Amino acid sequence: MADLADLTIAAAGAGLRAGEFSAVELLAAVARRASVTESHLHAFLTLDRDGAYAAAEAADAALKEGNDLGPLQGIPLAVKDNMCTRGIETTCGSQILAGYRPPYDATAVRRLREAGAVVVGKTNLDEYAMGSSTENSAFGPTRNPWDTDRVPGGSSGGSAAAVAVGSALGALGSDTGGSIRQPAALCGIVGLKPTYGLVSRYGLVAFASSLDQIGPFGRTVEDAALLLDGILGFDPNDATSYRGEVPAITRSLGAGVAGLRIGVVAELLDEGIDSQVTAATETMLDQLAAAGAEVVEVSLPSAEYGLSAYYLNAPAECSANLARFDGVRYGLRVDGATTEEMMARSRAAGFGPEVTRRILLGTYALSAGYYDAFYGQAQRVRTLIRQDFDAAYEQVDVLVSPTTPTTAFRIGEKTDDPLTMYLSDVCTILSNLAGHPGISLPIGVDSKGLPIGLQVMAPALGEEMLFRVAAAVEDLAGFDRRPALATSEVSPP
Ligand code: GLN
Repeated sequence: MADLADLTIAAAGAGLRAGEFSAVELLAAVARRASVTESHLHAFLTLDRDGAYAAAEAADAALKEGNDLGPLQGIPLAVKDNMCTRGIETTCGSQILAGYRPPYDATAVRRLREAGAVVVGKTNLDEYAMGSSTENSAFGPTRNPWDTDRVPGGSSGGSAAAVAVGSALGALGSDTGGSIRQPAALCGIVGLKPTYGLVSRYGLVAFASSLDQIGPFGRTVEDAALLLDGILGFDPNDATSYRGEVPAITRSLGAGVAGLRIGVVAELLDEGIDSQVTAATETMLDQLAAAGAEVVEVSLPSAEYGLSAYYLNAPAECSANLARFDGVRYGLRVDGATTEEMMARSRAAGFGPEVTRRILLGTYALSAGYYDAFYGQAQRVRTLIRQDFDAAYEQVDVLVSPTTPTTAFRIGEKTDDPLTMYLSDVCTILSNLAGHPGISLPIGVDSKGLPIGLQVMAPALGEEMLFRVAAAVEDLAGFDRRPALATSEVSPP
């Protein structure tokens, strides 16, 4: 039999129910894979071996008794380390939270556990999810499984790398400006940012609350859909949680694109986008047209202001959200003569350079006299972007664009220049600013063999249509490559 670590979530669920293997055997295969790949990648910050085996045994026992909890039961999954896990260290990739063990599970994590999933561990990230390469982790970077001299993207780089190599069959990440979709693209897997409010953020350590969403990573569109289905829905513990009827995530997988109108975002296709990424996107648009979709060019005129608006909005919100890390209640404390000095020292020692930069920028943008010129202006741009999307969705069912301007870049290549790093998110932040869903999936590789991602976007609560189009793109692309590290033959360095 093939290595169980290479199964999709859907196939693993079928195998478990057919009695071909147990959840414990599945977990053992995934743990074996991690024991080989982790020394190359550093995708995980914490592995919860005991908790995972206990959950796998419970899944086996339940299935034996005919207690079927659905498609995630017995499936080994990873969780980004900015989501609270009861009794398990939750660091946000920051020294300031090192050693923090939350007394509760985030709602999304709790829902996975209630669905019988096996949480294998916590994955690496840019500190407080601020970054696009996972190089801002206080615990060292994660590497890209396709080329370990390159970044996996970020901030959910650990989750993406783990799923790409099979040290988890799926994972949760968070996406504030692209942190699920961008690493999914750079690691050749599927990643989705759901509609704002569809997945509870209770227990997700807040970065920018008007933008943050939790979402899934999978190796296939179907796997991402199964994961989203497992975590979505109203939660009274999150004041922004959506109360209405939720989209039928998996209903239209397989319905195809014939008769659909697909808009390609003109502003996200040429300038600043690598020519091989543009070429792969155009090839896919031709294939979609051949499959019966009507492909039209659509303009989002305010898109060019998206990045600037985001880099005022997100730091402003982070400067408020991160005020709570002051050495009093959680994590690191550096003593001082006064309470104020203790707080200042703890924060100076605990936060890394990017987080510090964001707090300073955000505090400035919110300060008296500048508030309206910076934060207020960014909010107005956000409205314009939402209006652009509304106009576009009058004409088309979904929008597509490249997910990222380039394929995976080299470790260290952009660390000295925050602005170039920020540009990695130019295609993804628009959906965060509008609160809309977006998915990235692999459509090919460049001349270096590095994966290229395509982004599909839909209006708020348009996930059913989003998954329908993504599944069709997946079929047309026929992307079946895996990184060399995703084999049991690779040995530790
Ligand atoms: N890379 C973006 C940033 O640094 C987005 C991060 C995210 O989505 N969490 O803010």
